[in-house]
Amino acid sequence: MLKDRIKRTNSEVLFSEAKQYFPGGVNSPVRAFKSVSGAPLFIKKGSGYTITDEDDNQYTDFCNSWGPLILGHNNEAIREAVIATIHNGMSFGTPTNHGNELGKFILDHNRYIDRIRFVSSGTEAVMSAIRLARGYTGRKKIIKFEGCYHGHVDALMVKAGSGLATFGVSTSAGIPESFAQETIVLPLDDEKAVEQCLETHAADVACIIIEPVPANNGLLLQRKAYLEFLREICDKHNVLLIFDEVISGFRVGFEGAAGYYGIEPDLITYGKIIGGGLPVGAFGGKQAIMEHVAPLGAVYQAGTLSANPVAMTAGLSCLKQLIDPDFYPFMAKKTNELADALEAYAAEKGYVLTVPRIGSIFWLCFSKEAVRTSAAINADSMEYFKILHHELLQTGVYLGPSGYEVGFLSAPLAHDQAALDQAIELMKKALDIAFQG
Ligand SMILES: *Cc1c(COP(=O)(O)O)cnc(C)c1O
Repeated sequence: MLKDRIKRTNSEVLFSEAKQYFPGGVNSPVRAFKSVSGAPLFIKKGSGYTITDEDDNQYTDFCNSWGPLILGHNNEAIREAVIATIHNGMSFGTPTNHGNELGKFILDHNRYIDRIRFVSSGTEAVMSAIRLARGYTGRKKIIKFEGCYHGHVDALMVKAGSGLATFGVSTSAGIPESFAQETIVLPLDDEKAVEQCLETHAADVACIIIEPVPANNGLLLQRKAYLEFLREICDKHNVLLIFDEVISGFRVGFEGAAGYYGIEPDLITYGKIIGGGLPVGAFGGKQAIMEHVAPLGAVYQAGTLSANPVAMTAGLSCLKQLIDPDFYPFMAKKTNELADALEAYAAEKGYVLTVPRIGSIFWLCFSKEAVRTSAAINADSMEYFKILHHELLQTGVYLGPSGYEVGFLSAPLAHDQAALDQAIELMKKALDIAFQG
């Protein structure tokens, strides 16, 4: 085990206690620090680009609650708006004007959807979009890609079967084989695989779902031509194309990857940033498809706390701050600066590292070149990440606790050149330790 130079005693004690309450001590598995060293940090507060743990260590945060906090921690406008709304109550289970406001704001600034439905998580959004695709097309199979994550939906916790079998096998206990068999899993970046699959199965396939910016298993940036190909082949076979933009939505641009690449999917799912730090997800699309959702249509979908006024307020207050035309170009510029600096340093030192990036997402990829498929990721290289992660904790930089996780730049850090430069310097030093010991 790697040795700590910082005191993490309070986190360690709290983690031991948490194990008496929660399976593995956590409420979401990757938080348990299984693939890095030591106990997970218990964070007690966040402000701007920093988080503070229960031992009063402060970190510059590149995880940002796994993506939602593009404006950093405890954004003042979001906080004040939420407090003002809470004074009137938290949830009514009725329509509210807060829901209208967020719905209108999104639809007014998005060319790709004209109806939206709010839910409470990304998983729920994806689950509902898949049901809608099946209900709309009357077909039962779905196609997903190896290396894309879509939440813990039964039908999507599936990986490619062995050998020639196209149908998926589940990646979790508790998912009947018969469910997994309705999911076809294909490799990313491979037009032929999609063509051949649809030649045989098109009549049964309701949708192709993809993370247009795959960012849950490394950052596997796809060729634009490949994404355009998916649009064309879906049209050819009357298969719906679903962009799962739970990470990329409002992150690579206000219109997400659809806007970034200029490709119109049939359905889009959102989560993370859309709630400004509170639990919100959504799925949207053209009216002709969305009107199949209950109560207009036969596809049932519901939620007790869906579109509650507090979450809607947080989302609206967040999104209003992102609409400034300079926002996304500036975030991308600063992320490029960080990624270029690390790549240049690695090249100078002869370390095997590339830093793929898009918008304000980056990934430390311990390969000579950026990779586009999960099969191309070098699993052994995660040892470098483990050392790097540990060293950065010692010096006050927090990355998500797995080498397969991407980093997110927050606006407060992008705007603080000195802090960003310091984080870059600390990352360079941590690279030295990871590569030289
Ligand atoms: C995070 C994520 C999900 C799941 O969202 P939850 O809110 O964690 O349920 C689904 N799809 C993608 C692309 C994600 O990044």
